[in-house]
Amino acid sequence: MSSIDLKSFRSAFQGQVFEPADAGYNEARQIWNASVSKRPSMIARCSGVADVIAAIHFARANNLVTAIRAGGHNVGGRALCDDGLVIDLSRMRAVFVDDAARRVRVQGGATLGDIDRETHVFGLAVPCGIVPKTGIGGLTLGGGVGWLIRKYGMSIDNLLSAQVVTAEGKVLTANTTENQDLFWALRGGGGNFGVITSFEFQAHPVATVLGGLLLYPRAMAIDVIRHFRDYMESAPDELTAYAALLHGPDGSPLVGVIPCYCGNIAEGERVLQPLRKFGSPILDGIQAMPFPVMQSLLAPSFPDGNQNYWKSTLQRELSNDAISAIVEHANGLQSPLSFVVLEYYGGAAGRVSSTATAFPHRHLPWDILFLAQWTDPAQTKMHRDWARSGEDVLRPFSENAHLLSALDVEGEDVIKTAFGGNLPRLAATKKKYDPTNFFRVNHNINPGVLVGTA
Ligand SMILES: Cc1cc2nc3c(=O)[nH]c(=O)nc-3n(C[C@H](O)[C@H](O)[C@H](O)COP(=O)(O)OP(=O)(O)OC[C@H]3O[C@@H](n4cnc5c(N)ncnc54)[C@H](O)[C@@H]3O)c2cc1C
Repeated sequence: MSSIDLKSFRSAFQGQVFEPADAGYNEARQIWNASVSKRPSMIARCSGVADVIAAIHFARANNLVTAIRAGGHNVGGRALCDDGLVIDLSRMRAVFVDDAARRVRVQGGATLGDIDRETHVFGLAVPCGIVPKTGIGGLTLGGGVGWLIRKYGMSIDNLLSAQVVTAEGKVLTANTTENQDLFWALRGGGGNFGVITSFEFQAHPVATVLGGLLLYPRAMAIDVIRHFRDYMESAPDELTAYAALLHGPDGSPLVGVIPCYCGNIAEGERVLQPLRKFGSPILDGIQAMPFPVMQSLLAPSFPDGNQNYWKSTLQRELSNDAISAIVEHANGLQSPLSFVVLEYYGGAAGRVSSTATAFPHRHLPWDILFLAQWTDPAQTKMHRDWARSGEDVLRPFSENAHLLSALDVEGEDVIKTAFGGNLPRLAATKKKYDPTNFFRVNHNINPGVLVGTA
């Protein structure tokens, strides 16, 4: 490939280009997790597909390591690289709703909040995650779990089509009739296969849901979580709920349950009675609310600019011994901003075969997340150690399987466990669509060998 000089790249590029000396460079390299500080040699903030193609050609011609940034919420900082080029999609956030067909096309840099805002106009929703500033790009490529998972499945179960710019700069469509192998791999295989410039999703009629927070003193944690487990394992698909060990605004340790019922509200009131009647919650904030309000309930708990480190593990069951171990570990946490979250999936997502998409862990409905969050970088070791030892505590109960989207910086052995038995097929697809491993700042599937990268 002949070289492309910087001057001609800059003059043809329609979006913004930031180099270290440019005004705006430091803002452009900020992402959600302030623990990550990388200095790319160039950030190419694309205005559309043509800019993405130009950035790929420029990076290849100049042999630059290349990262892809969408919502910037990957906890391990995979949106950025040191020295190389960042293909920044954060200005490609348009959302188009075809309300008659209940189909939604979104650009690759859209956030969940962008999508909820537009779909809610039509009384529709796309199954995605639970914090509005998260990018649909990274979330979907990792699977996508959220409040609608038990009723309508993961984000990947609702993906109809994707427009992909490959490492050669070619534009492909991937869906059930075109490039089916690529379509399979995108649904759980991470950012390995190209830049997704747009996704098309099936939306569902979801306007008002019954949800909110139930809070109890931490001393009740074991009883509350055991009851939550027993209740969820026979709950209807309309109900998704998570439990969390957290702190109140005054620093008091609490345990909470957060349900979201999407269906007939009167029926939801009946379904939620056993949860709400259990114990004596110090707060019962459950009420009918517009779906975008439910989607933003937890946003204040995950602000931009704090230090973060995550560990998590998927489990088939949540035994009494595991609950006791989790609560004991949570009681030792050092930052009131940190959480332990117990997410229960299953439902529609659990009935999809583990080979139907690249996401292999359909049979492991429990995800236990140790989310360390703090403000003083000098305390990093202490908080990381807490999250790491949480994973150690759960090892006797764990399946050694992980949700791709929740992985912080990890080595090859851990990244492999997110792909499970689908890894050989993913590696073959990678070899076909990105044989030189141009897209490698991600949960990397090397075309021959799997390599963990930051
Ligand atoms: C506060 C918070 C809440 C979260 N909640 C949930 C949740 O409820 N459910 C859930 O499933 N996950 C959740 N996650 C995890 C989240 O899905 C992942 O962190 C995901 O990577 C974020 O996507 P992003 O586009 O914001 O990330 P970025 O950091 O911008 O991108 C991460 C990586 O994804 C790939 N990528 C992103 N967009 C594209 C694209 N258009 N084309 C090609 N590759 C791309 C690239 O490899 C990139 O390096 C949450 C994360 C955070 C920080």
